[in-house]
Amino acid sequence: MKTSIIGYPRVGALRELKFASEKFFKGEISIDELHRTGADLRLAHWKIQQQNGIDYIPSNDFSFYDGVLDTACLLNIVPERYRALNLPPLATTFAMARGYQGPQGDVKALAMKKWYNTNYHYMVPEIDDSTRIRLTGTKLFDELLEAKQHQIATKPVLIGAFTLLKLAKYTGAKQADDFVQEATEAYAAVLAKLNELGAEWIQLDEPQLVTDLSPEDLALFAKLYSGILSAKGNVKVLVQTYFGDVRDCYQELQALPFDGIGIDFIEGKKSLALVRQYGFADDKVLFAGVVNGKNIWRNRFKSTLVLIQELRELARQVVISSSCSLLHVPYTLKHEAKLPEETKRHFAFAEEKLQEFAALKAILEQPDPYSSSYYQQNEELFNGSRLINNEAVQARTAALSEADFTKLPEFSERLAIQKSKFRLPPLPTTTIGSFPQTAEVRANRFSFKKGAISEEQYKQFNRDKIAECIALQEEIGLDVLVHGEYERNDMVEYFGECLEGFIFTENAWVQSYGTRCVKPPIVWGDISRSKPMTVEYSAYARSLTNKPMKGMLTGPVTILNWSFPREDIQLKDSALQIALAIRDEVLDLEANRIEIIQIDEAALREKLPLRQSDWQSEYLSWAIPAFRLVHSGVQAQTQIHTHMCYSQFSDIIRDIDAMDADVITFEASRSDLAIIDAINECGFQTEVGPGVYDIHSPRIPSVDELKQGLHRMLDKIDVAKLWVNPDCGLKTRGVTETWASLRHLVQAAREVRATL
Ligand code: GLN
Ligand code: ZN
Repeated sequence: MKTSIIGYPRVGALRELKFASEKFFKGEISIDELHRTGADLRLAHWKIQQQNGIDYIPSNDFSFYDGVLDTACLLNIVPERYRALNLPPLATTFAMARGYQGPQGDVKALAMKKWYNTNYHYMVPEIDDSTRIRLTGTKLFDELLEAKQHQIATKPVLIGAFTLLKLAKYTGAKQADDFVQEATEAYAAVLAKLNELGAEWIQLDEPQLVTDLSPEDLALFAKLYSGILSAKGNVKVLVQTYFGDVRDCYQELQALPFDGIGIDFIEGKKSLALVRQYGFADDKVLFAGVVNGKNIWRNRFKSTLVLIQELRELARQVVISSSCSLLHVPYTLKHEAKLPEETKRHFAFAEEKLQEFAALKAILEQPDPYSSSYYQQNEELFNGSRLINNEAVQARTAALSEADFTKLPEFSERLAIQKSKFRLPPLPTTTIGSFPQTAEVRANRFSFKKGAISEEQYKQFNRDKIAECIALQEEIGLDVLVHGEYERNDMVEYFGECLEGFIFTENAWVQSYGTRCVKPPIVWGDISRSKPMTVEYSAYARSLTNKPMKGMLTGPVTILNWSFPREDIQLKDSALQIALAIRDEVLDLEANRIEIIQIDEAALREKLPLRQSDWQSEYLSWAIPAFRLVHSGVQAQTQIHTHMCYSQFSDIIRDIDAMDADVITFEASRSDLAIIDAINECGFQTEVGPGVYDIHSPRIPSVDELKQGLHRMLDKIDVAKLWVNPDCGLKTRGVTETWASLRHLVQAAREVRATL
């Protein structure tokens, strides 16, 4: 039995790559030093896989920023504005990822989108009519050779042609179909080079195949691969899918001359049924994704063994694989000194998953797998109890009725009451909540955690920051203020820490985009709120100003989506438990005269099932009600805002309106304001604040640029409904750029108001 990993995390067990990259961006280390960090990490990752007997170890899964971006750069998909900067290759890649403002020019970053149903983000390749797709880069080959130098044979991985062409944005007249020939030749050139270098396999990632495919998609896929596969020579091609099943193209995959097909049996609800129904070609290897690459619970060997045994009867050659890249789980439990062994036993991060592969391999080599000690220990774990029930919480969710999900009076009546109460100017300005988490803000939290300062000292520091932040917001003239979220390490972790039922790690970081990592809490048991979580700072902030002060909360769907969920109950049940806890907080804020409350649902879109037929039944039917439950108890004059990131939600725009918030702010600048058309067309009732500048980049937008953005919005959106705000929270930005950008934003809003 052989084992395969689709991809390994790359930021480093202690986020070494993040820190090195950030130093490099600040000019504190040289590019050579950054490259050395990259090489050290790659070697460490290959070695640990090798030690655990992984047979198919990936290379080129490493990236300094993002693998889709690397693929674009490898294949010459670099828009002219970045070429014109005349930077060295890696610097060009970074300019595409982060934007560039310096002696060589001033360009924005490429668009960034969520990677399927994960919290990872990829850079959207941009193709125009002058783009020539062809092999110009070397990264894929360099990393293969680098591994070889260390006597490690790897399986290079690359985003496949179909997924690449489907994810790209086309800015000219040409579309994906017009690039079939070039893409085919470029991938053929990759295969030719790998032949020359003696690689045995290549893994082409095609997650797009698990989405709903149209006949045109199938034709595109077939055209691409009939060409590409005819060039494979001695290299074996593994088409790797993940995040779902391939029900729309299973037979096409079998018919094409792939040497291996990677299928996800964790998220792929129909995967097993497909193999049962259509069989599996004898000349191909089935890379069976049976170890969850996304969640952190231990694999239950009992069910995995049953599955593998059945697959071995259906397919001649089976390799056990992760269900997707391990990029989506943290590195290791080794650095979790604070968690009791009794708890840690239940988890497997990337490194422990490698051990699970080794254990599964050992078990499967025994004549009687069920007698193996690995197997028996594993069963013991699952048969034991975890002490996770809270009967009061279960009773409360069981007693919910329709009325709990319905806010009264209805929207238009609330709107009138709120307009006359707040008397905001047209195009009211606000921010999304957080302000820069500077080194001193983090140091304050850290000192308190370590016990180096008292609780009072810790809080006083935060109060001072709040006062300073409010004074500055007043000075530059924002209309609806926020307290700045200085007390929050992270919008989910903060609430998780205040609630019962979550557990936390010290170092379980997962890459979100570029150098940004998140540390998701783990839903361990039933969730409840034992005390107010945000009232103290919000009420303090409220006391410092006469302007409206927004209270800031994270919504239940986002808390759940950005945590590692339980696998022993349904997501819906955890969502309702969290919703009730946040609802109590909303009512406490209202009682403390916080008149505007923003409930962030940054991650609502993220877990939308990849297939439309599952949207309602598997997700929206509970996610939207969970949000409504949070705010249905407030009075008409309390204004409810929500906020969403990465606004690819034109397709669920009605469901978003049905969340019944009064105002929604969302990311828009990086997606070129596309969402605005959808809002315009569907008669969206909620007021909207599409982000007018990109906060994921350090560049400062000019007043003119912001005014142009506002005018474009006003072409489509009624002025009475439009808010003016940045894309997202400002916590990752520097202080100077933040205030300079916000000054421009207020100035732009004022100048546009004057023309109304
Ligand atoms: N209120 C949060 C903040 O400003 C929202 C962050 C987010 O949308 N990701 O940081
Ligand atoms: Zn956001």
